[in-house]
Amino acid sequence: MKLNKVTVDDLNVKGKKVLVRCDFNVPLKDGVITNDNRITAALPTIKKLIDDGGKVILCSHLGKPKNGPEDKFSLAPVAVRLSELLGKEVVFANDDEVVGENAKKAVAQMNDGDVVLLQNTRFRKEETKNLEPFSSELASLAEVFVMDAFGSAHRAHCSTAGVTDHIKETAVGYLMQKEINYLGNAVETPVRPFVAILGGAKVADKLNVISNLLEKCDTLIIGGGMAYTFLKAQGKEVGLSLVDDSKIDYCKEMMDKAEKLGKKLLLPVDTTIAAGFPDPIDAPIDVKVVDTDKIPADMEGLDIGTKTQELFADAVKSAKTVVWNGPMGVFENPTLAKGTISVAQALAETDATTIIGGGDSAAAVIQLGFADKMSHISTGGGASLEYLEGKTLPGIAVIADK
Ligand code: ATP
Repeated sequence: MKLNKVTVDDLNVKGKKVLVRCDFNVPLKDGVITNDNRITAALPTIKKLIDDGGKVILCSHLGKPKNGPEDKFSLAPVAVRLSELLGKEVVFANDDEVVGENAKKAVAQMNDGDVVLLQNTRFRKEETKNLEPFSSELASLAEVFVMDAFGSAHRAHCSTAGVTDHIKETAVGYLMQKEINYLGNAVETPVRPFVAILGGAKVADKLNVISNLLEKCDTLIIGGGMAYTFLKAQGKEVGLSLVDDSKIDYCKEMMDKAEKLGKKLLLPVDTTIAAGFPDPIDAPIDVKVVDTDKIPADMEGLDIGTKTQELFADAVKSAKTVVWNGPMGVFENPTLAKGTISVAQALAETDATTIIGGGDSAAAVIQLGFADKMSHISTGGGASLEYLEGKTLPGIAVIADK
């Protein structure tokens, strides 16, 4: 089913107070923002609301404060950077209780087009439990709620879900809209052939993703650490490679499911092996490539091999939609990054719609310089995985349908 949510384009916010849940969870080192991608990504929605004459009240979490307010998790640096990027003042309402005297005063003094940023929503212990009274306090500041934090949409928190118990006019921002369009439509109404590529460390992390994507795609490619449990399920010797013995039956089930559904399930035909896991992870390492039915008992598979690179790239060539989550090998090590690079390269060269599902694969694509070649790189690791599992994300479900 295609999602059809109210967006900021459907709102009339002139003179209204609009609470926007952003994802300002930026990396900080000694109080300095080391990467402001998440702030730049939030600008289109914020600018639109400013231009339309809304009173723009922004909120976000930052990091994982355990016991309430902590200076190192303050959103103060974000207010400064945001103000620079917008070229206008952003009033930072620095209240430990988030909705305190400063926030109330700042909001009361707002003119149309003004911007206020609230303090870290996780300074309130109710936030992650989606409890009152924080939801109603947040809601008391505004008349309209805009959800634009895809990376937090898989969590039902006060600022992503609870607040909509009290604010009825809701919409998604441009960032959310883009995620829904790409991830949602790729999985629900893909232009075929639809090829899904899964990698990463463990089968156990992606049980539901494997099962759901198998139903939706035409070809499912499995690489990375999770491939060895599948190979073992085929009766192959996988040596010291990462294996989850408790998931062997599950892998067999998935292979049967693929056959019954008439879907192609591609596994590595060769693998890059070494005597053990690199330590430290980027240490120089001696490797060789062997077919996957010739892995010695005392060696460990750490990347896909050269024939597999070609096999996977070929499958991508004829695709019209590709979704990729999880690296093909231990990409943190240059010697073991070749499989991941080759898949990124294959995606960069195709005309298909290419969608990278957050987390490590997004980091790999950006780090390897292929970011501008992809149709969409999801901003949410966990959220995009849950989307690919076919789950309904709470932060999307609470927003009004058109
Ligand atoms: P995230 O969960 O952050 O979205 P992801 O889904 O892209 O990330 P993970 O499941 O976290 O990926 O797995 C990534 C890790 O898997 C990387 O650190 C990589 O080194 C490791 N990995 C990949 N292939 C292997 C392998 N053959 N053996 C051991 N580890 C591997």
